[in-house]
Amino acid sequence: MSHLIDLHCHTNCSDGSLSPHALLERAGKSGVRILAITDHDTIEAYTIVRDAAEISGTELFCGVELSTHLSGCERSVHLLGYFPSQPGAEFCTWLQELQRGRVERNMKLLAKLQELGFDIHWDEVQVLAQRQVGRPHFAAILQRKGYVKTLKEAFERYLSEDGMAWVDRDEPSLADSLVKVRKAGGLTSLAHPVRISRDWNYLAQIIRYYARSGLDALECFHSEHSKEETKKLLALAQMHALRVTGGSDFHGGAKPDIEIGRGRNGNVLVPAYVAQQLVEKFTEAGLNKQCKTERTSDNTSTPRCHS
Ligand code: AMP
Ligand code: ZN
Ligand code: FE
Ligand code: FE
Repeated sequence: MSHLIDLHCHTNCSDGSLSPHALLERAGKSGVRILAITDHDTIEAYTIVRDAAEISGTELFCGVELSTHLSGCERSVHLLGYFPSQPGAEFCTWLQELQRGRVERNMKLLAKLQELGFDIHWDEVQVLAQRQVGRPHFAAILQRKGYVKTLKEAFERYLSEDGMAWVDRDEPSLADSLVKVRKAGGLTSLAHPVRISRDWNYLAQIIRYYARSGLDALECFHSEHSKEETKKLLALAQMHALRVTGGSDFHGGAKPDIEIGRGRNGNVLVPAYVAQQLVEKFTEAGLNKQCKTERTSDNTSTPRCHS
């Protein structure tokens, strides 16, 4: 039986399709022994399955995937936060604020879609989403009602930054989010870095800057990375003394080609040292004192927005 590691997956507490218990069961059946659920802006799934994980022998870390933006730039960046157990009240209250921002965004987005003439109502979006409503749920309704043929088309025409119903959400900056996670005792990792840019000079500049501003790790293993990209990211992690994380970004039926612990056609196999690094971080004595957020002597300027 394989002993797989998956530090990036979603449940129906955000935009995944499986319930937290169903995800835990799927992980077990797939041979995933070390797991972090990283729903968008919520740790609810962790609180639901932590006891069941202990009983089933799955090592479960508390995780979250935060939607943030680069300073001085609208570019959206996903930041992963990992904790050995549930973070404290201050961090959880902050997550609740982020949830309120999502609700506001969703209301504006719904109004825009209705203005565009679509027959879409809040109740149906909410029924589909069950818990947190995200853009993928709007996309699914647009598709179900025949307004678009594919989810991709829904994003391209309406929901993406260039789409007709785009609403700018009041997202926290990446810099603030790094501070928030680290203050709560968490490890920060830049999710699927190639989504920021595949211009490697620019990406290297971003990584170099944030490595000096509280970023702990790079998500080098991810189902959207080619082998070559993973190699380049591993080299960048080493260059900047960053740890390495990895995961499939499993969303269940919402992204059916991605399997938990394996990614797309087995393209994500997270090596054991990744989990060791995570455990090491959480057991290191006095780590907070050496926290990189406090290393402010380096006066590298903020990278400029790159469009
Ligand atoms: P939200 O967090 O509600 O703004 O929704 C963002 C989520 O939508 C991302 O995490 C992706 O899973 C999904 N998404 C974003 N862009 C696209 C796209 N072009 N095609 C399909 N899914 C997308
Ligand atoms: Zn998602
Ligand atoms: Fe993401
Ligand atoms: Fe994700």
